[in-house]
Amino acid sequence: MSLHIPFDNSYARLPAQLFASHAPTPVATPRLVAFNHALAATLGLTGTDEEDTLAQVFSGSVIPPGAEPLAQLYAGHQFGHWNPNLGDGRAILLGEANGYDIQLKGAGRTPYSRSGDGRAWLGPVLREYVLSEAMHALGVPTTRALAAVETGEEVFRETALPGAVLTRVATSHIRVGTFQILAARQDITGLQALFEHTLTRHFPDATGPVDLLDAVIARQAELIAHWMSIGFIHGVMNTDNCAISGETIDYGPCAFMDSYHPNTVFSSIDRQGRYAYANQPDIVVWNMAQLATALVPLMPDQDAAIKAFTRSIHAMPALIHHSWLRRFRAKIGLNTARDGDETLITGLLTLMAQQGADFTNTFRALVNDSAGDQFVDRPAYEDWARPWRDRLEQEPGDPQATMRAANPALIARNHRVEQMIQAAVAGDYTPFTRLMTALATPYDAPGAFSDLARPPSEDERVQRTFCGT
Ligand code: AMP
Ligand code: MG
Repeated sequence: MSLHIPFDNSYARLPAQLFASHAPTPVATPRLVAFNHALAATLGLTGTDEEDTLAQVFSGSVIPPGAEPLAQLYAGHQFGHWNPNLGDGRAILLGEANGYDIQLKGAGRTPYSRSGDGRAWLGPVLREYVLSEAMHALGVPTTRALAAVETGEEVFRETALPGAVLTRVATSHIRVGTFQILAARQDITGLQALFEHTLTRHFPDATGPVDLLDAVIARQAELIAHWMSIGFIHGVMNTDNCAISGETIDYGPCAFMDSYHPNTVFSSIDRQGRYAYANQPDIVVWNMAQLATALVPLMPDQDAAIKAFTRSIHAMPALIHHSWLRRFRAKIGLNTARDGDETLITGLLTLMAQQGADFTNTFRALVNDSAGDQFVDRPAYEDWARPWRDRLEQEPGDPQATMRAANPALIARNHRVEQMIQAAVAGDYTPFTRLMTALATPYDAPGAFSDLARPPSEDERVQRTFCGT
């Protein structure tokens, strides 16, 4: 085969209890439906011109030279409840190239599959492909999508659906839950090995567990503020879906909001709204507290550890708020900080919530001061806009450029993603290709893609999203 992947597999060299060596299960008739050539180049892949080879490798049917396939062990708190037994139940890490994990998702059963079939269907595979690449184009740290392959097999989810495999790329797949499971098992050797590996891979300047926690907190605080600033709702922020690297991971029931409301929830399984839009900053702090707990056994003096970790956790809400304020200032055109800015921001958000204004389009319309169109009660908006315009007058630089860079014109709207999936299932990949092209430059004027900026009509609105299982 001409395909070459420059593997160097550091995870496979970790203590054996951290993973299960396990090969993907071959599929019937793999067919490549998407491949990310730019990302492949970043990973150092060569010989990527044979579609058939790509389909074989990225469906898990052929193991490429140098790969050491394995399923990673982890646990996690799901909706606040401890689940001691998780792990890659349908994902298999092929290995690492140029410092990135290359992982197949939907590649068959593993020792951690429990009652699952180890498979994925085409819908969630394309959903993750589009959403993760859209997030990347928006500038948000995220796992990436390298390939999508239809398997030619059926997957059963209440009904028979076309099977698919997604190749996901991340700087690593180490999660809060990866630490948690070793701490819970009191496996100090494993925990220490994972800790050292994590420092080498992500935080070479960190020296101890407190440093590590602070570094992860800093990245997660920035990440969540970033999500908030683009109206992104992850939907399933369990500790096993919270990456140490600070990348967005696990695109299950996630969604971008259309009309703004802080309590928005899409996930069909989030009945209490634990992972609602406005709860995300609190939840990530909770997740970091679970990471801190898992790191305690690594500290020689546990009382001192608890004191230091507690300080770090207590400092996190202010960090998130600081990033949030910086990002939302930019969204209304402000690079400088003044008293009263936050009131201005929350004033607009309150108005948007009251009137169900479209999150993305309202902020984008601020660029040319046309946001009044987004409100039913226009005078109420004008009352907000007058002091805002006065504040902009005093702003040095180019507020319009600031807003254009902070307020995307295009997001992956739910109804467009659903339409894209329905078309692909019927064999038409035109909407997928078009969505991918449009979402690659979300801050540009949408031009020929202006239909993709339109909010859903009543009958297009997606009320619920589902996990990929
Ligand atoms: P997720 O909701 O994708 O974060 O997955 C939660 C847990 O369920 C992880 O341990 C997954 O590996 C596992 N899982 C999800 N879907 C499947 C499946 N189809 N087969 C086996 N395990 C699965
Ligand atoms: Mg997960």
